[in-house]
Amino acid sequence: MLDLTPYINLLKSGEIVAFPTETVYGLGADAWNPSAVKKVFKAKGRPADNPLIVHISNEKQMEDFASEIPESAKTLMTEFWPGPLTLILKKKPKVLDLITAGLDTVAIRMPDHKLALQLISSTGPLVAPSANKSGRPSPTNPKHILNDFGQNFPVLDGGATEIGLESTVLDLTSEIPVILRPGKIGKKEIEAVLGSDVNINSTEKSDSPKSPGQKYSHYKPKASVRYGEISSIENDTLYLVQNTFPESKNVISYDGNLALLSKELYDRFRQADIEGYSTVFIEKLDLFRKKFPAFYTALTNRISKAAD
Ligand code: AMP
Ligand code: MG
Repeated sequence: MLDLTPYINLLKSGEIVAFPTETVYGLGADAWNPSAVKKVFKAKGRPADNPLIVHISNEKQMEDFASEIPESAKTLMTEFWPGPLTLILKKKPKVLDLITAGLDTVAIRMPDHKLALQLISSTGPLVAPSANKSGRPSPTNPKHILNDFGQNFPVLDGGATEIGLESTVLDLTSEIPVILRPGKIGKKEIEAVLGSDVNINSTEKSDSPKSPGQKYSHYKPKASVRYGEISSIENDTLYLVQNTFPESKNVISYDGNLALLSKELYDRFRQADIEGYSTVFIEKLDLFRKKFPAFYTALTNRISKAAD
C-alpha cells in the first residue's frame, strides 16, 4: 500500500501537495493555514478573486465552515457524497477570506476517492483547486502536474482520474438552487433528489460575484479548440469524432461515449500541445445529449470556454 506519511507531513507543515480525486487532481493545502493557502494561489498564478473549494473527509467537518446547513444540503450530501458535487453555503466568520475571496459563502465537497479521503482524514480539511497552472486544462494524471509545476513537485499518485471534468458547483444560498458549474451530477438528478427546480447559470461570461470562476478562461490548450461539424481531415488537427471518420493517428473516435470523452478530454488537449497540433476539433455532441445529459452539458461548457 502507498505510504501517505510524507504527503501528510508536507501538508501539516504548511506545504502544498497535489492529490487525486474522482474528478481531477487537486492542489491541496491546509484550509486553516493562511500561508499554505497563499502558496496555492502563488503556485497556480490564480487570481485572488477566484475562491477555492474546501475538501473534507467527514460531514462533521462541515460545521467548521458553514454557518448553516439547510435541509436541501443534508439531502444532497446523503445522496451524492462522497462525490463530484460542490455545495456553496453561507460561511462561518472564521473561514479564511483568502479561501472565499472575500465572499460570505464557502464551497465544500467530499471527494469520492480513497486516497483523498485517507489523506484528509489525517490532515484535516484541505483547500484544493485543480492542480494546474491557471488557465491550463485541469490535470487528470500525475504527468500533467509535473509538466506544469516541474518534475520534483510532490504528487500523490493515484493514476488517471475517473471522471476527468471538475465537480458540479451548486449554490444553495439563493431561493432556487443554481448550478454555477455543470459536472457529472446534472440538473435533472439534483431536481429529482430535491423534489424542486434548479436553475443553471454556467455558460454566461459573468462578472457576478456569485460565480467568480466563470469569468476566467479555463481549460485551454495552446492549440485552438473548435467544435462543430467536420467536413474534411487535415494533418495539423487532432480530431475527436463519433465514429463518423475512420480512426487514424490524428482521428480518435468516441463512438458517442460522452463519459469516456469527459475522462480523456483534458489529456487530449495536452496531447495536442505536446505533439504540435495547431487545432483540436471536437465533433458535435448533440446526438448523444439524451443518453448523457449531464456529461453533454458539462462537456459543451468546458469546450466552449476552451474555444473562446
Ligand atoms: P477549481 O477548484 O479550480 O475547480 O475552481 C473552483 C471553482 O469553484 C471556481 O469556479 C470557483 O469560482 C468556484 N467557487 C469556489 N468558492 C465559491 C463560492 N464561495 N461561491 C461561488 N463559487 C465558488
Ligand atoms: Mg481549476
